[in-house]
Amino acid sequence: MDDAARCPCLSGLPYGECCGPLHAGARPAATAEALMRSRYSAFAVGDAPYLLQTWHPTTRPASLELDHDQQWRRLDVLATRGGPFDDDGEVEFVATFRSGAGPGGPGRLHERGQLHEVSRFVREGGRWFYVDGDIAG
Ligand SMILES: [Zn+2]
Repeated sequence: MDDAARCPCLSGLPYGECCGPLHAGARPAATAEALMRSRYSAFAVGDAPYLLQTWHPTTRPASLELDHDQQWRRLDVLATRGGPFDDDGEVEFVATFRSGAGPGGPGRLHERGQLHEVSRFVREGGRWFYVDGDIAG
């Protein structure tokens, strides 16, 4: 992904100043929200290794197959808790996606969906990890 392009998490910053350095391992996420945003962006750019790295070992799947037909279009963070001095945090968000936009042939329906989730995070050794989430709404 181009560092100068708009970050997929729609923070308003370029990718190179937002989720890019987190994906590259240049710096860890300072807050639960920053980690959540970078994980959303990782889904958007198809970075499965980053998703696994930032998943807490107790809940992390053995492997992760991303659905490349699913296009993540929009992220709205509704509520957030968990800063640089906290041990745990929560982020409530709505992620909007479109599926069926891949090479499915002409006339294939584009389906729009939303994921409304409250995600739980913990901070260990100075790093935030995604633990799990509850579907809300
Ligand atoms: Zn971002």
